[in-house]
Amino acid sequence: MTNVCPKCGLNKELCVCETIAKREQQIRIKVHKIKFGKLVTTIEGLDTKDIDIKDLAKKLKNILACGGTAKEGKIELQGDHANKAKQALIKMGFSADAIKTD
Ligand SMILES: [Zn+2]
Repeated sequence: MTNVCPKCGLNKELCVCETIAKREQQIRIKVHKIKFGKLVTTIEGLDTKDIDIKDLAKKLKNILACGGTAKEGKIELQGDHANKAKQALIKMGFSADAIKTD
C-alpha cells in the first residue's frame, strides 16, 4: 500500500488533488418517485475519475441512515434526503455553489 498520490506524486498528507476535485464537482441532487410511491434520492454529476463514489455512497448511507447504491457515476439513496445529503456533501468539502437541488 503506497502513501503517494498517483496523480501529483505527493505524499497523501500533502496532496490536495481530492480537495480540489471535490470543489470542482457539479452535483445534481434529485428526488424521484419510484414504485409503490417510494422515494429515492439520486446524486449525479460526480466525476468517478476523481471521486470514489462507492466510498462516498457508503459515507452518505451511514450519515443518513438509509440504504442505497452507487453505479455508473450515480448514487442512489432510498428515501427523500435531498437537503440532508447536500449538507453532508458540503461538510465533506464539496462546494455548496456547485450542488443543485430541485
Ligand atoms: Zn495528489
